[in-house]
Amino acid sequence: MEFQYKEAKQRRLNWVSETWNGDGHRDIAASDDVLIVGAGVVGSALAYALGKEGRRVHVIERDLSEPDRIVGELLQPGGYLKLVELGLEDCVKDIDAQQVFGYALFKDGKKTRIPYPLENFRSDVAGRSFHHGRFIQRLREKASSLSNVRLEQGTVTSLLEENGMIKGVNYKTRNGEESTAYALLTVVCDGCYSNLRRSLCNPKVDVPSCFVGLVLENCRLPFENHGHVVLADPSPILFYPISSHEIRCLVDVPGQTVPSIANGELAQYLKTVVAPQVPPELHDSFITAIDTGNVKPMANRSMPADPCPTPGALLLGDAFNMRHPLTGGGMTVALSDVVVLRDLLRPLSDFNDASTLCRYLESFYTIRKPVASTINTLAGALYKVFCASPDPARKEMRQACFDYLSLGGIFSLGPIALLSGLNPRPLSLVLHFFAVAVYGFWRLMLPFPSPDRIYTGARLISGASGIIFPILKAEGIREMFFPFSVPAYYRAPLSRQTIQKNRSKHVLAEKSH
Ligand SMILES: Cc1cc2nc3c(=O)[nH]c(=O)nc-3n(C[C@H](O)[C@H](O)[C@H](O)COP(=O)(O)OP(=O)(O)OC[C@H]3O[C@@H](n4cnc5c(N)ncnc54)[C@H](O)[C@@H]3O)c2cc1C
Repeated sequence: MEFQYKEAKQRRLNWVSETWNGDGHRDIAASDDVLIVGAGVVGSALAYALGKEGRRVHVIERDLSEPDRIVGELLQPGGYLKLVELGLEDCVKDIDAQQVFGYALFKDGKKTRIPYPLENFRSDVAGRSFHHGRFIQRLREKASSLSNVRLEQGTVTSLLEENGMIKGVNYKTRNGEESTAYALLTVVCDGCYSNLRRSLCNPKVDVPSCFVGLVLENCRLPFENHGHVVLADPSPILFYPISSHEIRCLVDVPGQTVPSIANGELAQYLKTVVAPQVPPELHDSFITAIDTGNVKPMANRSMPADPCPTPGALLLGDAFNMRHPLTGGGMTVALSDVVVLRDLLRPLSDFNDASTLCRYLESFYTIRKPVASTINTLAGALYKVFCASPDPARKEMRQACFDYLSLGGIFSLGPIALLSGLNPRPLSLVLHFFAVAVYGFWRLMLPFPSPDRIYTGARLISGASGIIFPILKAEGIREMFFPFSVPAYYRAPLSRQTIQKNRSKHVLAEKSH
């Protein structure tokens, strides 16, 4: 996609001449309201959202050319709704994005279709899958279409701290010159490899597996316009369309590294271990994709949010919080966070009082919890359940999960509503997770419970608890289930009306599911 910078460049020139004084030093009084580090999914969406609110926004992005990555290609319908709330839904137009209406699951030659519950939404509401880079360029284009948003290419090297308060950043400009940018609020959205997060949170990054990405051509998915998950051995394989003629395949490889690409070990692994488990309709294109050599590996990181509230700064996106990408929830969480933050900051006429602003921003970390933690927990738990294991109890849990989702009705609607981000409610997550475990236990007791079966069933239940409780604990049980009981929730200058709206949304959604 061609990115139009001409107009933005002219505005930038006007801006620079307005805000820099004669001796080349920035006039602090004219510093920006918000400085955003990174123009990925979050940075670009936030720049547009805050720009629309009339804030002066400066975005510094390391590379403004179209990214070519295997991340962020399937946006769940819940994420699409957030795009609509932000006025960014046209960013999935004209990029050959494909609508996604649900998932198909494959296990041991059996398959089941799980549609998204879209009946009560507008006709355009569905998932979207696309080339990540094209989407990013549309978001950047949209942000820089606002006269008060300035996108600059540069690499941020450090945060500028004075007396415990973040005042801006040091960065290298496009020409390699050292420079400084000041703002009343610095939002760090520099993604999963973030160098800047260390002073703003306690990062505990886990790498449970890697994805190996390939692009398949000249084939059709067994279920068009659906995400496909194959419950393979040792771990899942995903397929989804990224354009009208390309299908993305992501092969999960457990562990922190993948077999060597250079000496052909990875190609050998894909052909001998993975290919036999690929649906027949996709097999030949899968082999061709391996032979073309365009195979990209990427580590799957997960990191619970553990912020250190710091005056003048905020972390957002993957720099702040990550989950396994199996369920494609990252962009939905990110866009949901942008909506929460925009609404939170709306009543503030300016950001001059940094310590008060910091206390207000603490409520951001609580308000976002129910949605973000539900999507995070589902991703972590589902990944563990979907991985093959020699343990009979884990095998039963995996089979029970496939069969439970195949039952249809509430048994598939509830879980897919969670995964799609249309109803990301913590209680619904826990209920369905344990319903799967109880279903698995009950099946084991049929036709007669033997001591062996009772033992396996008990291990299944304790295994299920062992999967979900550590994730819930890391996410923060109180903030996730009872955010209203956390004092920080009330720190923001939210209007009574907004609090009421959030509260009734929560209650209504719990009732309807
Ligand atoms: C393999 C994989 C597949 C995934 N698939 C999906 C999916 O299908 N659906 C989904 O919703 N999520 C998916 N995710 C997660 C999703 O990609 C992320 O949650 C999302 O991209 C986070 O957006 P971000 O803006 O925080 O980071 P990014 O989109 O990574 O953006 C960070 C930006 O910061 C810039 N930057 C970095 N350092 C600096 C610096 N020092 N100075 C200036 N700029 C800097 C980078 O150039 C980049 O543009 C996937 C993740 C992985 C690993």
